[in-house]
Amino acid sequence: MQNTATPTHCPYCALQCGMNLTPVPGGTVEVSERADFPVNRGALCGKGRTAPEVLSSRVRLTSPLVRSAAGELEPASWEEALDRIAEGLTSVRAAYGADALGVFGGGGLTNEKAYTLGKFARVVLGTSQIDYNGRFCMSSAAAAGMKAFGLDRGLPFPLEDIPRTGCVILVGSNLAETMPPALRYLTELKANGGTLIVVDPRRTKTAEQADLHLAPRPGTDLALALGLLHLVVAEGRTDEAYVQERTSGWEDARAAAMAHWPEYVERITGVSVPDLREAVRLFCEPETAMVLTARGPEQQSKGTDTVGAWINLCLATGRAGRPYSGYGCLTGQGNGQGGREHGQKADQLPGYRKLTDPAARRHVAEVWGVDPGSLPGPGRSAYELLDALGTDIRSLLLMGSNPVVSAPRAAHVEERIRSLDFLAVCDVVLSETAALADVVLPVTQWAEETGTTTNLEGRVLLRRQAITPPEGVRSDLEVMHELAARLGVEKGFPTDPEEVFEELRRASAGGPADYSGITYRRLVEENGVFWPCPAAGDDEPDAGARGTGAAAPDTDAEDAALDVLPDDPAGDGEVPGHRGTPDGHPGTPRLFLDRFATEDGRARFVPVSHRAIAEEPDDEYPVLLTTGRVVAQYQSGAQTRRVDELNAAAPGPFVELHPRLAARLGAAEGDPVAVVSRRGRAVAPARITANIRPDTVFMPFHWPGEGRANTLTNPALDPTSRMPEFKACAVRLEPVEP
Ligand code: SF4
Repeated sequence: MQNTATPTHCPYCALQCGMNLTPVPGGTVEVSERADFPVNRGALCGKGRTAPEVLSSRVRLTSPLVRSAAGELEPASWEEALDRIAEGLTSVRAAYGADALGVFGGGGLTNEKAYTLGKFARVVLGTSQIDYNGRFCMSSAAAAGMKAFGLDRGLPFPLEDIPRTGCVILVGSNLAETMPPALRYLTELKANGGTLIVVDPRRTKTAEQADLHLAPRPGTDLALALGLLHLVVAEGRTDEAYVQERTSGWEDARAAAMAHWPEYVERITGVSVPDLREAVRLFCEPETAMVLTARGPEQQSKGTDTVGAWINLCLATGRAGRPYSGYGCLTGQGNGQGGREHGQKADQLPGYRKLTDPAARRHVAEVWGVDPGSLPGPGRSAYELLDALGTDIRSLLLMGSNPVVSAPRAAHVEERIRSLDFLAVCDVVLSETAALADVVLPVTQWAEETGTTTNLEGRVLLRRQAITPPEGVRSDLEVMHELAARLGVEKGFPTDPEEVFEELRRASAGGPADYSGITYRRLVEENGVFWPCPAAGDDEPDAGARGTGAAAPDTDAEDAALDVLPDDPAGDGEVPGHRGTPDGHPGTPRLFLDRFATEDGRARFVPVSHRAIAEEPDDEYPVLLTTGRVVAQYQSGAQTRRVDELNAAAPGPFVELHPRLAARLGAAEGDPVAVVSRRGRAVAPARITANIRPDTVFMPFHWPGEGRANTLTNPALDPTSRMPEFKACAVRLEPVEP
């Protein structure tokens, strides 16, 4: 590697901030500003800025570990470790069948790894039992997007459109802490005269920026959206012409909303009728407006319906598929978007194809050189897969995830993992889950390897290798190559990421998430390309994609729509984020401007009604618990808990509670508080603030041990997305002797 700066991207969240990395003595890299990447324009949060520390962490794994006869994890050679995994998988398959082999991936894996992992599970192992932790992140928004628009892409427009809209309703997102560089889009929105409405049970740093903060009880934002839609109709603010022209199913959705009177919604949510009316006024008065959702409304046992209700609000007011208007989901994990497109999801084949679609199976099987009939059907969703460990599923290969900390009902999940016949984990440190494994393989990290990710805008990016990995580690692609060979599949698992991407392009061609026109060269030259991006001369979706939202972008129509966009800051006739290339499809920054990806091109209203969370408070468990993140830690903390600066800023878990609740408990600031749910007990210091509802406590979920928030959370699943209800469950508080 040369000692020059390599432009690349952060390893953490879905913003995928651009950064430059320069090697420094000692085998690590220095981060510097990369102003040419438009998403963050050089800005980074503390996590991104300190990410290189994990590369040289003293707890970094650089040798495989194999559990000895004495039960200890001991250093071993790569040959021994890989042989042991092959033996473990083979013996379980021989005894119990292929579906006893589980595979669990992660939303942080590059597209190349996610693609290869899905192929490895289905072609090498022959198992249907694969899913990933992205199921816990955005699956409800994905399901709602598919129902309404026929396509799931987190944001159907670039982030740069946000400051140009008239009003944003931000539902259940604390951008100021989860992706701080994105806050500038909201600041610019307000500077441009737009308004911001934040929906969150807590007065977060993001909510402090809002013109209007609505603080509903956790788990009631479905009712809130219905109440707003009721008022839209009652106040004559429906965009009748748009509804007529571009949607279907309005009558049923309208009838469902009209059953949700504002006073009824006020009783359910705790949001006053005047505030509901003010929200409708702010949202409807400008010509353009957006609704952006995140984990708050999505991580519920009715998350798909909740997001559907917010989409209905957009559709009824003509705020979707129009310039600077629309609904979008702020995906959380680094490659949460790409990770859900290329086959590590239980029901999915690459290109966002369905595993149950015969044409899709034929297409992908041909690329893989296998018989379509040999491909297994859909498997279990993430929590259901984890819940089946030790019973139906006897071995697990885990890559890029730490479910002992991040899964709901985590003590139960940990117990299921411990009951496995065989567990193999690929990771960079000995995470809480890796510590339970029979074999741990030390793998390369973001700065040591090349691969693509797809950010929350649907912008495909190239993360480039900046340094040579330390001796003793190998890439996940090398691991799958070696294991495939040991399991009798000599070909089809290349270790070069670009070679994998070339195959992914072919596998995705004609699918809803079509990457076939994207190359590594283009990603470098164009600073990312938005999908769908079919290869030149391949604009027609194949039969497997038709009707599943794969309509090839009508670039003439889209360009015509873009002609009406008011902003052209450079004055060069180009709208930012909509660059073309002389020799290929330009990519699709803005979706749905002329038609939605449904068969008839219309967006579909989905009639939804309020229903309670799976576990309402009662006499025994009278308080609501909601969980989330803090600015200095990321997800299960497997990486960020290894960084001194981040640990100093966020050293451990806490229980945030209102002064009135604290007084009832007799707890002072910093006192240990026990939070008890039907699933377990967690203890953490009290953090007392009036910025949370008095009926609700909040815990961040980044830590293991006695402060593990997910010990408490409820795995009640959304019937469509199979998303667990992380955001609301019933608990009681107990004082603890300091
Ligand atoms: Fe990395 Fe996200 Fe922070 Fe950007 S906002 S530096 S992508 S963690």
